[in-house]
Amino acid sequence: MRLAILSRSRSLHSTKRLLEEAAKLDVECVVLNPLRCELSLQTGEPKVFVYNRSVERIDAVLPRIGSSITEYGLLVVRQFEAMGIPCANGSDAILNSRNKFRALQLCAAEGIEIPHSVISRSFSDFPTALRRIGSMPVVLKLLQGAQGIGVMLGRDLSSADSILGTMLSLDKDLLIQEFIRESQGTDVRLLVIGGKVVAAMRRQAKRGEFRANIHRGGWGEQLKRIPKSYERMALAATKTVGLDIAGVDVLESEHGPKLLEINSSPGFQELEKSTGINIAEQMIRMAMKKAARGKRR
Ligand code: ADP
Ligand code: MG
Repeated sequence: MRLAILSRSRSLHSTKRLLEEAAKLDVECVVLNPLRCELSLQTGEPKVFVYNRSVERIDAVLPRIGSSITEYGLLVVRQFEAMGIPCANGSDAILNSRNKFRALQLCAAEGIEIPHSVISRSFSDFPTALRRIGSMPVVLKLLQGAQGIGVMLGRDLSSADSILGTMLSLDKDLLIQEFIRESQGTDVRLLVIGGKVVAAMRRQAKRGEFRANIHRGGWGEQLKRIPKSYERMALAATKTVGLDIAGVDVLESEHGPKLLEINSSPGFQELEKSTGINIAEQMIRMAMKKAARGKRR
């Protein structure tokens, strides 16, 4: 079994952990920087070259595509799919989850509870869009942000309006979302692999911060007994967007859990630390399963 990990660097924590666990399972690994993959297309003959060498004999691909390289990264994943190589995750699923509004559209259509969310392209519609949410503050989000970057709090109509106007002038769309005050800077991160929730933690934002992301100074604590409603939500959302591996963020509202977003390349350092669960091994096993299924076909 030969696995290609798409990652910009072997020294990233998640990549190092994946390599470590792959070695224990006797899985041969190559790490390919998606930005160094040259994609060649002729009818019926898709190929990938790295430093002018054709990438061959790959049984499965594990993409770890950061949000800053989504567009090119997705072309690379799609190229491997065109070569008939199973990818965990697949390119359509990554695309579905990467845009926060698209993911919410798909999940809301499946009846999954989400915070009230509005998007508009017209400057003159912002005041009514803000009033539609009904209360202040509101959360303003870039559609493609990650690690809490691009998630802002509009404290009143005038500050929300000026953030929205600024972003629109920079040609950036913003999603306007109801602020779930009662979550008080906490959220729940559930990790789904192969249709199972394998670990979960409650994250707490640092003082004075409403974003619970670890990269924004938050910390995690294992959620030992995962409420069934959270588990159901994480599994339904993951299935809806079509991911094999997903980090699902859920807010604890007074009306029950609400889905925030679904991450297709979730980091797992804090999750492994707080739960003691070997996440990297389970990701490698997922890729192995995909490879075996691909071979049977
Ligand atoms: P990112 O991709 O940057 O992680 P999220 O949508 O997950 O974006 O938001 C980051 C964090 O901000 C969440 O983990 C949560 O703590 C907080 N947050 C996001 N949306 C809301 C909301 N509607 N109400 C309250 N807190 C929120
Ligand atoms: Mg998040």
